[in-house]
Amino acid sequence: MPAYKTPSRTHRSRDCFARSSDVIPSGVNSTARAVWSGWDPYPLFVDRGTGSRLFDIDGNEYIDYLLGLGPMILGHRPQKVTQAVVDFIQNRGTVFAMPAADEIALSEKIVAAVPAIEQVRLCNTGTEAVLYAVRLARAFTGRKKLIRFEGMYHGFSDGVYWSKHPTLETAGPDKTPKAVPQGPGMPAGLDGSLIILPWNDVEALRDAIAREGHNIAAVITEAVMCNTGCILPEPGYLEAMRELTAKAGIILICDEVITGFRLSLAGAQGYYGLEPDLSTFAKGLGGGFPVAALGGRKNIMALVADGTVSMAGTYSANGIAVAAANATLDHLVTPGIYDTLYERCQKLVDGLSKVIADNQMPAYVTAVGPVMQLWFADKPIRHYRDAARHARHDVFRTWWEEMLDRGVLFHPGAFENLFVSFAHTDDDIAQTVAIAGEAMRAVKAKH
Ligand code: PLP
Repeated sequence: MPAYKTPSRTHRSRDCFARSSDVIPSGVNSTARAVWSGWDPYPLFVDRGTGSRLFDIDGNEYIDYLLGLGPMILGHRPQKVTQAVVDFIQNRGTVFAMPAADEIALSEKIVAAVPAIEQVRLCNTGTEAVLYAVRLARAFTGRKKLIRFEGMYHGFSDGVYWSKHPTLETAGPDKTPKAVPQGPGMPAGLDGSLIILPWNDVEALRDAIAREGHNIAAVITEAVMCNTGCILPEPGYLEAMRELTAKAGIILICDEVITGFRLSLAGAQGYYGLEPDLSTFAKGLGGGFPVAALGGRKNIMALVADGTVSMAGTYSANGIAVAAANATLDHLVTPGIYDTLYERCQKLVDGLSKVIADNQMPAYVTAVGPVMQLWFADKPIRHYRDAARHARHDVFRTWWEEMLDRGVLFHPGAFENLFVSFAHTDDDIAQTVAIAGEAMRAVKAKH
């Protein structure tokens, strides 16, 4: 029976939401969990997760492709990560305000995994890592401006929380978008430090660099646009970006907060053969614990090394985070695991694509390994404006409800992703595809 349409199946979540809305603004602790982000009429409240499964507080079980929005790369409660954290807390402590040798081990693993990283600093969240990366790029180049792409998300700090998903009425021309703040409260004038561009558009990037290259400190990008569904880079785009930025002395920041340690041990940059100057990591790095990293070339990190650029943080490299990340990376170096994951993900993509074809729906799946999205659109989507114009949110919503009601969980937003973890099994995939067949028939009947 449908979860949302039969409130008796989720009445505890509904009651919790009523309670939480009294004391927590919007009833949740992140915008991505809010009613207006798709969790309408109320978010499901979670009891627990285990492996690929999540259980809500009413006892409903879901195959989980939300994965905490990405961190649960090894599934929920991965035994070795949990044990490492428990051991650390019980035997060592939590926060020391002094270094511990475990941090060295973790940094050595990151440097070994990602060729473009010679040195790495740890912090707590992707937002922090990006904030530091941009500051460092400005300090290194002595330039002011940042190119960021419409439709991307790089955390919620003032300098970058712009033009994530602006309405097209406010966003200016397609080739030269305006900087649109996420909302009020940003210090005035920050838009003057931003150049917003369409992604997957070499000409737009070339023009911007030709116009203003001498003022541009950095280009920040994901190698796959994961924050507007899952949009893949067109052949040659990342290579052109690397070439254009290198020629103009612009720092290329690869935001691997989602893709890091997920697309490969060396992240999306390893997958696509990109060599950025700076990279940011979070989510997958910690197997569910808050830890992030900013890494890059030694000559840039030298500004952190000598204190010119300060990276502080009471909780940076705290014992819990470092123990979790060490255990996560120790697992991720297991030979062959990415190959198995990719094979499994391909089965899911093939299964969903067949379901779409069987039902003759105007829809398609885009995917790179364990990150994917199903688009209800009758045109290809190359960048944010395509998505804003062509993605059918109403059909996606029905699809999401029909899948949820049958026990498959992912984010209700069409611009989010489905994530597959190392804990998902062939059975999970087969079950998901079977459920998708039923769900898609229901979608077709309604649209
Ligand atoms: N960068 C990207 C690409 C992200 O997707 C996110 C979060 O979703 C962030 C940065 C911010 O990371 P955090 O939520 O850990 O602050």
